[in-house]
Amino acid sequence: MTAYEQFCRHAAEINDILCAINVLQWDARIQMPPEGAQTRGYQLATLTRLAQERFTSAENGRLIEVAESELTGADPDSYPVRAVKAAREAYDIFQRIPQDLLAGRAALSAEAQNVWAEARKKNDYALFAPYLKQMLAYAQQMAEAIGYSDHPYDALLVQYEPGMTAQRLQTLFAELRAVSLPLLERITAAGPQPKPAFLEREFPIEQQRAFAIEASVAFGYDLNRGRVDVAPHPFEISFTRQDVRITTRYQLRYPFAAIFGLMHETGHGLYELGAAPELTRSALTSDYLGMYAVGGASFGMHEAQSRMWENLVGRSLAFWQVYYPRLQEYFSTQLADVSLDTFYRAANRVQPSLIRVEADEVTYNLHIMLRTEIEMGLLDGTYTVDELPAAWNAKMEEYLGLTPPDDAQGVLQDVHWATGYFGSFPTYTLGNIMSGQLMAAARRQVSGLDDALARCEYAPLHNWLIDNIYRHARAYTPDELLIRATGEALHTGPYLAYLTEKFDALYPG
Ligand SMILES: [Zn+2]
Repeated sequence: MTAYEQFCRHAAEINDILCAINVLQWDARIQMPPEGAQTRGYQLATLTRLAQERFTSAENGRLIEVAESELTGADPDSYPVRAVKAAREAYDIFQRIPQDLLAGRAALSAEAQNVWAEARKKNDYALFAPYLKQMLAYAQQMAEAIGYSDHPYDALLVQYEPGMTAQRLQTLFAELRAVSLPLLERITAAGPQPKPAFLEREFPIEQQRAFAIEASVAFGYDLNRGRVDVAPHPFEISFTRQDVRITTRYQLRYPFAAIFGLMHETGHGLYELGAAPELTRSALTSDYLGMYAVGGASFGMHEAQSRMWENLVGRSLAFWQVYYPRLQEYFSTQLADVSLDTFYRAANRVQPSLIRVEADEVTYNLHIMLRTEIEMGLLDGTYTVDELPAAWNAKMEEYLGLTPPDDAQGVLQDVHWATGYFGSFPTYTLGNIMSGQLMAAARRQVSGLDDALARCEYAPLHNWLIDNIYRHARAYTPDELLIRATGEALHTGPYLAYLTEKFDALYPG
């Protein structure tokens, strides 16, 4: 057996444990009875510790080292070289992180999430603040341990979005603001956009489910390697490319939650399903820093796929020109008096709101900028934890023209900071930016793509994404993938052009 084969055998076993963790997570979120939570917590903690011990072991260090020397001179872009490199980078980072830091953060996280839920219910930020201070201290220690040259946020971003920095984010955000804020001003000048009344009719769940799955399969989701379940907080999760599961939630009087929610998770699922078969059970489908089995280059690149299929495809006029008559067949009484134009506008209604997860395409990034700027400010000392509610409200006013009536609808709305994972928020916006860039490149490279999309034929777009993005799993960084696929580094041009063109047409001045 070559050194590389030995490295792969070890990586495969770690991937098996990570996939088993995912199965337990899926079960916990889909069908576990409430009393199962405590012992499930032990099971997850034990398996995570086993995976981490195997990965950080001296033996794995030796396997990495021997494989590196065996691969000296091999193509630096080949999957074997990339697999060993990914393991090396994570291995070295783990050497720098003290064990008690990870254990302490994990222990605090469980407690902090409970306190956060209670604080949000009671609208009592002061209850959560002491836990947030401890979590922030862990994040700062983590940044120091991982290391950075410019901003502590850079060290945390490594875990979610390799290659991204605070400074790059600030530049991207300035570009987004310069276009989004005037666009939003033009749209809101027309007055408030109330939720259309037809959306509050009753849409039976069984038909919502049938339509949502029909669209998902049309995009390319493979039910022989997946299944669709109900979850209050929808997600996608994979146990290798052979079993990639997605979820959605149903609201009787708001069918968009299920339809667009499933399109979103379908995009994540297509990424995992599209990984090259030879990368199954490998270092390139294992996120070692997160101790998570996943086959995408970064959180942002993953989000680019969900937003591509949900927004650029699923909320397009081209999609609904074909699929709206089909939806009307499912809901013949509910939609009989609703025109395509009315429906399409409802699917793309822009209305500033206090809640990120309900935000439309134009305001979504403003919610993310606010959170990211606050995270950076906490890390570098611009804000203290006690100043957060005021900082939050000031930014809400600046970006969205709204002031939260209370902290439950303001600074307490997301669970992210209670879990301790500072640095993941910007990946949602990076996903949006990347989705625009990928779609523009696919249009340039695939002849007849727009005609195919107008016929709702998705194989040409899906195949381009498989060839350029999905099959590589974690072999390349987001920057490398973008340059390989589009010829250009990450930039906001195509995404901002898409936003402006789409919403100027929907809301002519
Ligand atoms: Zn997503």
